[in-house]
Amino acid sequence: MEHKPIRDTFLPYGRQWIDDDDIEAVTRVLKGDYLTTGPFISQFEQAIADYAGAKYAVSFANGTSALHGACFAAGIIEGDEVITSPLTFAASANCVLYQGGKPVFADVDEETYNIDPKEIEKKITNKTKAIIPVDFTGQPASWDEITAIAKKYDLVVIEDAAHALGASYKGNKVGSFSDMTMFSFHPVKHITSGEGGMVTTNNKDYYEKLLQFRSHGITREPSKLTEKQGPWYYEMQFLGFNYRLTDIQAALGISQLNKINRFLELRRKYSSMYNEAFKNNSIVKIPYQDPNNSSSWHLYILRLNLDQLTGTREDIFNALLKENIGVNVHYIPVYLLPYYRGLGYTPGLCPKAEKLYEEFITLPLFPAMNEKDVRDVIDAVEKVLNQYRKFKEVIL
Ligand SMILES: *Cc1c(COP(=O)(O)O)cnc(C)c1O
Repeated sequence: MEHKPIRDTFLPYGRQWIDDDDIEAVTRVLKGDYLTTGPFISQFEQAIADYAGAKYAVSFANGTSALHGACFAAGIIEGDEVITSPLTFAASANCVLYQGGKPVFADVDEETYNIDPKEIEKKITNKTKAIIPVDFTGQPASWDEITAIAKKYDLVVIEDAAHALGASYKGNKVGSFSDMTMFSFHPVKHITSGEGGMVTTNNKDYYEKLLQFRSHGITREPSKLTEKQGPWYYEMQFLGFNYRLTDIQAALGISQLNKINRFLELRRKYSSMYNEAFKNNSIVKIPYQDPNNSSSWHLYILRLNLDQLTGTREDIFNALLKENIGVNVHYIPVYLLPYYRGLGYTPGLCPKAEKLYEEFITLPLFPAMNEKDVRDVIDAVEKVLNQYRKFKEVIL
């Protein structure tokens, strides 16, 4: 029998939403005086600081360089240990390696999929300097517990909020409470600037270090210069990088941020449609939602109950691709990646993260999809799960 897919066209797992006003915003910059380091940079930074409820924001070329800047500002140097989640994109740990530090992985909570504060505390040594918790899928991590641990052991908290622009924890906006918080504006994230990133902070010292780090370690700030030579004079005071965002990107970012409420509303609506459809299906587990927090729903992840399936996760994954549903898997535990294995990390380090990784499947979720797309995904998932269902439903 010929296979008839649920959809005729492929639905990706995520993609940007660009309107005419975004295009106009970019075009205006192209016709203006500054393509980079012009007025849109500080406007974008101010807009993100205001939105997230932070005193300062510093833009970066991408989220990864923003994390690198945060590790620098936190004073991470060779030999320092930094605790992070294994269930994240490699960048959350790579930023520690860039500074010569050692990423230490603390296992996640099986319900929330976020780093488990009890596991963080087990991994603390006299070399631990910082924690990089990740707000996985947009669900804020356990901030009260993490903040208490950071206070007790004098650690810097760098929040990887690449998934969490617009999320809040017990009524507080993500970006307003950690020592430093990183956002990413990659096209699959909540808003995009093509590539782009930002660090928010309430600490002036971190703010100034971040600014200088993203521009070669150079400063022209009169109060910071060690001598006076003339108006041309600047000093490079430490080894920084060129991690600057362009004005072209900043203008796009500002224009996108104007739409964040609509984007979040649609993500929440589509996630509730998925939750409604799957909450009573015993073969899958829907994502945990903390009633005290508000998730920004960057990713919608179903957890497969493999005991009730005749096929593997790969079978389900491939079958959904055949239905033209762009599924994905987030994430391979970072320390299982070949580079990390080469550094000596071994399987078994974080058993819960490893088990969840085997069971996870990410469904398409982005504001530019419509309700029909969501229903197609639901139909396709139900069709495929029924094909692989081990125990047929008994109707009494
Ligand atoms: C996207 C992402 C990053 C990196 O952001 P880029 O802008 O792609 O460099 C870091 N951490 C997590 C969890 C991410 O999802």
